[in-house]
Order: sequence, then C-alpha cells, then structure tokens
Amino acid sequence: MESTIASKSQEYIELENEHGAHNYHPLPVVLDRGDGVYVWDVEGKRYYDFLSAYSAVNQGHCHPAIVNAMNEQAQTLTLTSRAFHNDKLGVYEKYMTDYFDFDKVLPMNTGAEAVETAIKIARKWAYEKKGVPEHQAQIIVAENNFHGRTTTIISFSNDEGARKNFGPYTPGFIKVAYDDVDALENALKQENVAGFLIEPIQGEAGVYTPDDNYMREARELCKKYEALFIADEIQTGIARTGALLAVCGKCTCQGHCERQQTYARPDILILGKALSGGAYPVSAVLADNDIMNVIKPGQHGSTFGGNPVAAAVAMAALDVVRDESLAQNARKLGEHFRKRINEYISTTDTVTLVRGRGLLNAIVVNDSETSDTAWNICLRLRDHGLLAKPTHGNIIRFAPPLVMTMEQLDECIDIIIKTLKEFE
Ligand SMILES: *Cc1c(COP(=O)(O)O)cnc(C)c1O
Repeated sequence: MESTIASKSQEYIELENEHGAHNYHPLPVVLDRGDGVYVWDVEGKRYYDFLSAYSAVNQGHCHPAIVNAMNEQAQTLTLTSRAFHNDKLGVYEKYMTDYFDFDKVLPMNTGAEAVETAIKIARKWAYEKKGVPEHQAQIIVAENNFHGRTTTIISFSNDEGARKNFGPYTPGFIKVAYDDVDALENALKQENVAGFLIEPIQGEAGVYTPDDNYMREARELCKKYEALFIADEIQTGIARTGALLAVCGKCTCQGHCERQQTYARPDILILGKALSGGAYPVSAVLADNDIMNVIKPGQHGSTFGGNPVAAAVAMAALDVVRDESLAQNARKLGEHFRKRINEYISTTDTVTLVRGRGLLNAIVVNDSETSDTAWNICLRLRDHGLLAKPTHGNIIRFAPPLVMTMEQLDECIDIIIKTLKEFE
C-alpha cells in the first residue's frame, strides 16, 4: 500500500534516516511551505493539513500577523535572559493575565516544561500552604494521559513505549480512570494530595471526550478536598475545541465567564502549542497569587522563557484568535464535520465512530489496534491531498487549522469519505 515516493522527497527522508535519531515515525511526505490551511511538498503538491502540528498551528500556517510580529521583534531584541528586564515581558504578562483572567503567568518554552512547572508549583504549594509533610506530596493523574516526554512526566504515563527502560521513575503520582468522578473522589480522600492534573480531552490517547459534566465535577471535588485543579490545555486550549479553553465547556464567551456553571476554572492553567500559532516554542503556566507566589527568585526558570520574540509572537497569535473568531469557527465547523462523518458512518462498517469537540476530532477505524489499516488510510489521504496521522493504532485524529472555511471543510470531508470508501 505504501505508494511510491518521488525521488526528491526520498532524498530528504534518507537524510533524516541516516543522520537523525529515529525517535519518530513520520508519514512519508516532505513539506517545504505552508500557508493557512495548506502545506506543499518538495514536489509542489498541495495538501490540506489535518494535524496542524498537533494543534500548534490553530491560526494557520505562516499567519502574516504572527510572522510580522516575529520578524519585527527578531530585528530589535531577541534575548536578554531574565538576568535583566526587557520592554516586552511585562507587557506580555499583563496581556496574558488579562486574556485568561489569572493574577500571574510564568513563561516557559515547550509544553513539557510548562507541565513540569505546574508540578513544581503544586508540590511547593502543598508543602507551604496545605501543610503536607516534605517529600510526601501526591499528584493525581488520569490513565492514558499524555503530558509530554520528560523523565518525571513519563513516570506517570502508561504508554509502554514512552516509559520502558527510561526508569527509575519519579514517585508521587496516583493514577485514576479518566472520566470517572468516583475514582477521582476516592483518590482525593488519600493523604497529602497536592492536585489533580488533567487533560480536558485526551488528545494523544485518541481524542477521548469525557462527559460534559466531568471537568466541572472534578473542579468541585478538588475544592472540597483542598487540592489544586490543574488543567493541561496545551492541545485543547486556544480555541481548538470551540471555546477559548476546553474547560469552558459549552460556553462561547472566550473564557470570561466564571459565573457560568460550565466554566471549570483551573487553579493552574497550562498552555503551549497554539500559544504561538506554531511559529515559535512558547508555553505558559497561569495561576492566581496565592498559588503562584510560592515561587521565589532562583527556584524556577529558563534561559529562553518569556524572551522578547516569544512575547511578541504569543500576543500576535492570541490577537488572531480573538480578531478572527477562531473559537466560534471551530465550533461551527466541528459540528458540521461530525454531522457529515456520522452520516457516512451510518452507511458503512469501515469506521465505527467519530468523536471530538470543535475541530479536535477522531475517527475509530473498524480494525484491531495493531492493524495497519489506519496508517494505510492516512497514506491514501495523502495521495488525495490531505495529511492526517493515526494516534494509537486504529484511531485517526482530524485537527485542521481553525482558519478553515466551510467550503474548504466540505472539500476535505469529500476527500476523507472518498478515501474511506476505498477501504470498504
Ligand atoms: C503536546 C502536549 C504536551 C507536550 O508539549 P511539548 O511542547 O511537546 O513538550 C503536553 N500536554 C499535552 C496535552 C500535549 O498535547
């Protein structure tokens, strides 16, 4: 099924194979240009991007406002380190805390670093504010979580590939079933719990979308047992699921709606990926003063965290989300996507279901988890001009940039259905 690759592409693939660590298994396509919802390969063939770099490119490839902000800042001042102040960091921090409605932000670079930051803050808060005995703090996490790749984070993963032979593992984590409030409450009853770290939708695991009330009930349970509710919105945040944050649930107000029942306001909010629109690694942790102020000078940091380019890029990227109403567009297009795919599913045995929220969706292919059907479907989608990738065996995630139009989406759904029909 692996259709032939043009020789120019093959050369680039061989360079990577020969000289790069084999820590990924990419779909065989070599890209050299992106614009909005499209990317082009080195032979000049155009594709719809249905992965958006794992939801980092929500604003579309090379968005001119983001690229301009980056260029301008790159020519002015790129890095001072936090040894000195600069004229962008404070402006960015005010922008971020206003935008997401928290007292303070701690800027980092990658998602995994931001998760590590949240873990450190939660532990320190537990010792200094909750009175947990030193070295005893526990953080509750969900089965099948994905929070990144550092040694501490893989310690509480249950992905064998991510864990095996990378031990010894960091202790201090309790794992509970996802989307199970009773399991969460039982864990919260244990001693020394600092917090509950959760993805509002489990993206990497296969776009597992919990019950509509799960986040809000988890939020309330954390309050009841005096544990921090820590939302990892690195993949679900920044309009992807049809609201500014996935913890906003069904609300359309872009996060500024604490009084509404549906907003499960986190004590600690973790952002990354689309915070820069894919232009630059930018991540952030947000919390209010009573939590964030446990961190004192010298206790945490990063050379590049909050650098002037990151600050300029992130502000431009968040302006785009607001100015172009990306949350509303993701919601509208997502509903249309699931409606049309469901209509197709009712006619076929090839796909068992479509699930998701906004433009974070996945289909489950009717085959075993170890089969290569989903991979072969993605190769054929590529041949038909659409790029997607299986996440876990028989599940294919569909997450295009949020700047897509309804007409483009319909064309993409036509491609997807045409391709799936070849596998009937
Ligand atoms: C991608 C992702 C991370 C890790 O981000 P990196 O930038 O790859 O380190 C963490 N949590 C979630 C939910 C993610 O999707």
